Amino acid sequence: MPTPSRRLEHLTSAIFTEMAQRKREVARKRDVIDLGIGSPDKPPAPHLMEALAQAVNRPDVYGYPGSEGSSAFREEVAAWYRHRFGVALDPEREVHALMGSQDGLAHFALAWADPGDVVLVPDPGYPIYAGSVYLAGAELYPMPLVAENRFLPDLSAIPEEICRRAKFMVLNYPNNPVSAVAPLSFFDEVVRFAKRHGIIVAHDLAYSEMAFDGYRPPSFLQAEGAMEVGIEFNSFSKSFNMAGCRIAYVVGNAEIIKPLAIVKSNVDYGVFAAVQEMAVAALRADRSGHFPNPTGALYQERRDVLLKALAEIGWRIDPPKATMFVWAPIPAGWDSRSFAFALLERAGVVVIPGNAFGAQGEGYVRMALVQEPHVLAEAARRIGESGVLQARSAERDV
Ligand SMILES: *Cc1c(COP(=O)(O)O)cnc(C)c1O
Repeated sequence: MPTPSRRLEHLTSAIFTEMAQRKREVARKRDVIDLGIGSPDKPPAPHLMEALAQAVNRPDVYGYPGSEGSSAFREEVAAWYRHRFGVALDPEREVHALMGSQDGLAHFALAWADPGDVVLVPDPGYPIYAGSVYLAGAELYPMPLVAENRFLPDLSAIPEEICRRAKFMVLNYPNNPVSAVAPLSFFDEVVRFAKRHGIIVAHDLAYSEMAFDGYRPPSFLQAEGAMEVGIEFNSFSKSFNMAGCRIAYVVGNAEIIKPLAIVKSNVDYGVFAAVQEMAVAALRADRSGHFPNPTGALYQERRDVLLKALAEIGWRIDPPKATMFVWAPIPAGWDSRSFAFALLERAGVVVIPGNAFGAQGEGYVRMALVQEPHVLAEAARRIGESGVLQARSAERDV
C-alpha cells in the first residue's frame, strides 16, 4: 500500500493520543474527572432547541443550502454585529457562513497561502492554526505568547524577512489555551503592523460571549482600519452551546473572504438550513434582550469554585477574564507532560499538558471548566490529596 500524504505527518498530536489512551486505562481502575476536553457540557437554551425542532419539521429545509449561508442568516449576523460591537457589515459581501470556525480556519490557509509563504500563528495556539498551515504546505512562524507580555505577541520581535514573506497572521482573544484577553489598543497596533507589512489579519473570536465580571470582549473589527486588513471568525459552538450543530461564520473584508468562499464552494454545500434557522433564532433572541446569555455566569461560577479550591491546596492561579479554560502554571521540578500524567494517575484528573499547544506552552497545563462546580471542587480536593503538588520537590530532596 502507498503511504499517506506527507502533509499528515504534522496533523496528529502524539500528546493528545497518548493522553486519551492513558485516560482509558486509568478509567478502568478508578473514577476519572475529565477537565481535558474543550466542548461545552450544557445543551442549547430550550427556545433554541425548539426553533430547530420546528425548522426540521418543515419540508422545504432539505435541499442543498448553498455554502455562503441564507440571506436571513447573513442579515442576522450583520444585525448582531452592529448591536453587539457597533460594527457595520454588508450581509451580501462581508458575511459568509461556515460549518464551524474549524472549517473556516482549516480552509483559510488553503485559500491564501502557497508553499514558500509564511503564516504567523500564536504559540501556544488552538491546534488547527498550525494544522491548516501544514495542510497548505506553507511555512509556520510561531509568535510566542508569554506571561511577561500578558500573552500578547511581541510584533516588534518578528524579523523583517518573515514580515516580507508573511501572508497572514492568526490571532485569538479571548484565547484558547492561555485564556488571556486583548485590549482594543492592541488590535489598533495590529492594524498598523498589518498595513505596514501588507499582512492579512485573521482573528478568531470564538469566546466573545464567554466572559466574566462584566467584561465584554471586543471584536477585532472595532479597531480603526481593521476592515481594510482583516476578517474575524465567530462561532455558535461556545456562545450558545451548539458545538454539535456545526455552524459559524466569517465576517470582515470582502476581498479577503472571497478566496475562502471559492474553496468552500468546491468542498461543501453549506450548513443544513434548519441549523441556520436555529442560529438566527439564537442571535435574534440575544439581540432582543429578553434572553440574557447564561454562558458567562455559568463559567464564572465554575472558575471561582475551581480557583478557590485550588488556592486552598496551595495552587494559586490568576483568574481568567474569559473562556472556558484555566491556564495553570505547574510547580517547579515538573515538565507539563509528566505533571499531566501524574495528575491523571495519582489524582484521576485529566488536564492537557501546555506543550500540546506549542513549545511555549511548556510549564503549564490547561484545565477546561466543563464540569459542575461540585465536581471541580472534588478535582481540586483529589489533586491536594494526591500530593502531586509537593511530590517532585520532595523526591528531589531525598
Ligand atoms: C472551540 C473553538 C472554536 C470553535 O470551533 P467550531 O468549529 O466553530 O466549533 C474556534 N476557535 C477556538 C480557539 C476554539 O477554542
